[in-house]
Formats: sequence, C-alpha cells, structure tokens
Amino acid sequence: MPTRLDNVRRAFGAREHAPDGLLLTDTDNLGYVTGFTGSTAQALITSDEALFITDSRYTLRAMAECKGFRIVETPSGSGGYGEALQNVLKERPALRRLGFEAGHVTVSQWEAFQKLLPDIAWVGTTDIVETLRLVKDADETGKIRRAIAVAEAAFESVKPLLQPSTREQDFAIELEFAMRRGGAEGVAFATIVASGALGAHPHHHAGPRPLATGDFVTIDWGATVDGYNSDITRTYAIGRVSEKQREVYAVVLEAQQRAIAAIRPGKTGKEIDAVARDFITERGYGEAFGHGLGHSLGRSVHDGPGFSPRADKLILQSGMVITVEPGIYLENWGGVRVEEDILVTEDGCEILTHLPNALEVLG
Ligand code: ZN
Ligand code: ZN
Repeated sequence: MPTRLDNVRRAFGAREHAPDGLLLTDTDNLGYVTGFTGSTAQALITSDEALFITDSRYTLRAMAECKGFRIVETPSGSGGYGEALQNVLKERPALRRLGFEAGHVTVSQWEAFQKLLPDIAWVGTTDIVETLRLVKDADETGKIRRAIAVAEAAFESVKPLLQPSTREQDFAIELEFAMRRGGAEGVAFATIVASGALGAHPHHHAGPRPLATGDFVTIDWGATVDGYNSDITRTYAIGRVSEKQREVYAVVLEAQQRAIAAIRPGKTGKEIDAVARDFITERGYGEAFGHGLGHSLGRSVHDGPGFSPRADKLILQSGMVITVEPGIYLENWGGVRVEEDILVTEDGCEILTHLPNALEVLG
C-alpha cells in the first residue's frame, strides 16, 4: 500500500516542470500527510527526504505522530520557521525550485519566503494534497461515521426542545453541548438554527428568535470526531404545517432523493447537481435554490468540490464523501433544506446519515 507521503510525491512529481520539493503549510493538509495533530508546523517533501519542521511545543508530539518524517525543531529565538527553513536549504543546495501551497499562503507570508530565501524559485501549486484528500480510506470514513453518529445521537437527545417558545440560540447551545458530551472534540461549525422567515437565509446563525407555531425551522449542525466532521441538516414544522410548506418540503426531498439515486463513479459533480436543480426548476423554484447541491466532507467541512454547476471536472470515485443538500429559500416566507452525507461506492452510494427525513410536525 503506498503511503500518503508516497502519493504526495507522485502527485507533485508528475506535474509538468515539477519542483524539487514541496513545502506544506496548511494544517489540514499537514495532518493528512504526516499524521500531526498539532496546529503549527511545516513539512518539506522531496523525492528522497521528508522533513517535518515544528517548534519546541510540538517536538515530542511530532516524533510520536509523524512516521517517516525527520523532525526538525525551529531554532530558539526570533528566527522561527523562516530560519529553520533557511538552515535546511543551506545544507541542500540541490533544492532550487520549491513548490508552496498557493491557496494557503498569505501575501505577507509569500513576501517573507522571497525575502528570507532569495535564491529559491518559488512555484505556486494548488490542490495537490486536496485532490488526494477527496478519496477517503476506510480509516477516514470510520471517523466520519463516528462524527455522524455523535451528531445524530446528540440531536435525538435535544429534539424535544423543538417546540414553540424555545429560542433558536438556546436550541443551538443544547445541541452543541450534547455533541461535546457525546464525544465530539468540537462542533464542525457554528450551528445554524433558522426559524420562520429567517429560514430564507441559508446561513443564518442561531439568534434570539423563539420558535412559533406555523414555523419551519432549519437546523444545520455537525460534530468533529478524531479530526473529521459531519454535516447534517433537517427542517421541521412547528405545531402545524400549511399546504405550501408541504409542497416546498416535498420538492426539496424529492430533489435530494433523485440526486442520491443518480450518484455513481464516473458521473461528474455537475451532472448530479443538475439532477436536483432541474427537478427544482421544473417545479418552479429554480431561482430559490441559489447554492451548490453539496460539498466534499472530511477534515474540513468544505473539503473540496462536490455537486455544483461548476463541478464539471470532479469525476466521482468510490471513497468520496460528499453532502447532498438541496434547499428552497423564499424571502419573507422561510426556507427548507435537507442534508445527507453520502459515501460514493463501487456501484452507487451509501447514505451515511440515518436520521429520518420525512416531513415531521413537532411541538
Ligand atoms: Zn450543513
Ligand atoms: Zn453542508
């Protein structure tokens, strides 16, 4: 089995005008390639060496976690990472052209690289590790499954609070607390609880509004377990449900089911998005579905491309984990979104989320 380090070498070595080495600085990419669970480090990967540069806070942890990497501690004093990299490169004059992660380096960091190491030609690279991360191995999908199980169990335990007079933010707090108590190391993102007309804002955060009879309330939440995330959305009716609410909910749910049924290796992210989008448009709500159908899910909540009109280059492969989250948002009325997490399999997909998603009237 090639290691993740082998795969990174192959990926950047295979590029045209491949650089002599690749400097990784993004925390998620570092964690994926090296196993490091700390927050500050850099890795320099060449065809025959793998160096892990970190500071004294993390040296012991890196020695335990980063198998296959030589650990380099940053010098004490003010030089820090820049000085460590200068020292490393001074001893390796053959390294002239270095790739860096252009999508994760700020302009000031980039200027500092050039100033500290004026003899190095810096080559911006994008998505080398991100592309590898799109296909999850069994260990990763196991962690995502646990992150889903924690989020779902927590939700079930606080669901009775979804009733008139509960404030959005109070429900969010209870849900987040239940996730932490249930084994999450953190929340995947700030929980969204959007009720009544506020549901028209797909990313409304939980606020002081109390739930009221006749509302739709959309809850979007997730847990982080062992560095991997879950991301689930449900929409419920409070107290009663109108014909219009039933109709909109049915359109969203059928769009989701049609899209899920179409998922299989070889399809593009754009094709799956179109299945849901065309159906919603046919039913007259195309304008009200403004976002992509879903995103890759893993170490980051938005772990790369997924299902969207722009994802024509994403070819689905077995092992990808992607959300399916159609929504309809109507100004001054509210919104509906339902979100599942799916794993692309050899012959279709497995739905990883298990909470029922038929329309329910609560409270
Ligand atoms: Zn979500
Ligand atoms: Zn999502």
